[in-house]
Amino acid sequence: MPLALKLTFERKGGDDVTSPPEKITVCCPACSERYGSWFRPSVNLSLEPITEEELREMTTATCPACGRVVALDSLVVDGDVWTVAGG
Ligand SMILES: [Zn+2]
Repeated sequence: MPLALKLTFERKGGDDVTSPPEKITVCCPACSERYGSWFRPSVNLSLEPITEEELREMTTATCPACGRVVALDSLVVDGDVWTVAGG
């Protein structure tokens, strides 16, 4: 079973450490292109203020071949490749 992912963005302070970005491979649901992207499973917004645009960039990936934008939190991990659930 592919593992479903959940993004968490903490707004409160505390000892939570912001997770380092992780290099992932995304499988495009539109054209099946596989491309590299960066994923940060957790961001502490109180330690690291970011804009909505930055947040959107961090939570989506854009296919270099066809331009299809996918939301990383809608993807599931199948082996080393991130792909759209049910797609
Ligand atoms: Zn594509």
